[in-house]
Amino acid sequence: RVAYVNGQYRPHGQAVIHVEDRGFQFADGVYEVWSVFDGRLADFDGHMTRLHRSLNELRIDIPMTREALGRVLNETVRRNRVREGLVYLQVTRGTARRDHPFPPEGTAPSVVVTARSLPLSKGDASAKKGVAVITHPDIRWGRCDIKTVGLLPNVLAKQAAKERGAAEAWMVDEMGLVTEGSSTNAWIVDEHGKLRTRDAQANILQGITRAAVMALIADEGLELEERAFSVDEAKRAKEAFYTSASGFVMPATSIDGVKIGDGKPGPIATRLRALYLDRAMRDAI
Ligand code: PLP
Repeated sequence: RVAYVNGQYRPHGQAVIHVEDRGFQFADGVYEVWSVFDGRLADFDGHMTRLHRSLNELRIDIPMTREALGRVLNETVRRNRVREGLVYLQVTRGTARRDHPFPPEGTAPSVVVTARSLPLSKGDASAKKGVAVITHPDIRWGRCDIKTVGLLPNVLAKQAAKERGAAEAWMVDEMGLVTEGSSTNAWIVDEHGKLRTRDAQANILQGITRAAVMALIADEGLELEERAFSVDEAKRAKEAFYTSASGFVMPATSIDGVKIGDGKPGPIATRLRALYLDRAMRDAI
């Protein structure tokens, strides 16, 4: 395997970042993940636009043009011979003597790209059966709209899920409303058959897969309400599912051990998954 680090492609085992990198010292960086179909990147523009937004919000310099970065992403995919899988990008504020304020102007951001294979069939097998989710308090900060590498609360939530035999943790705010998954956006089809997902302005990440699925919902003429739902509403829902670049649309068939609907992946989640995969494969570049 090969990783791109600050202008060079290096063997994966020798791909390293300086100990004074601000990503390591302060989680002072942002990231993106694209899924790869047939060696091409899905939702390329959406992730690239969100990357620029995240960098802009944190006032980290844009390290290279969209086109140049696109070439690095594609080249990393090619050199790792990934046909189906994921490509990961991280940009940090760079390497500088450890000090909390931003480093001197002109400090170059660090750029890292890795790619790995992940067969589509693996996610498909989970989607066919459905997966379990647990709920977990949302202990994150007030700027969850920025895709930062400060993911410790997300790590703790996902580990709690793993230890309870679940695939994802849905984080819950102090009002008892679901915010989002540890690395996914959360959705239900409520008791009345209406799709529900939390408003993207309400301190969650604006998922690129979420936005793509919203467009499909509109095309299908389904009803959608962008309004937070409670854990109780989720447990009474007809369907539950979550979305992300790595999992696409994943049906959740239990929440904290409570069966959702008839305990099988629901028709709406199943259809949205098929539609999303079709469109993403067609439009990947
Ligand atoms: N919410 C959080 C907290 C995430 O970390 C992610 C992805 O990593 C998502 C939602 C899903 O976003 P996307 O569909 O852009 O992958």
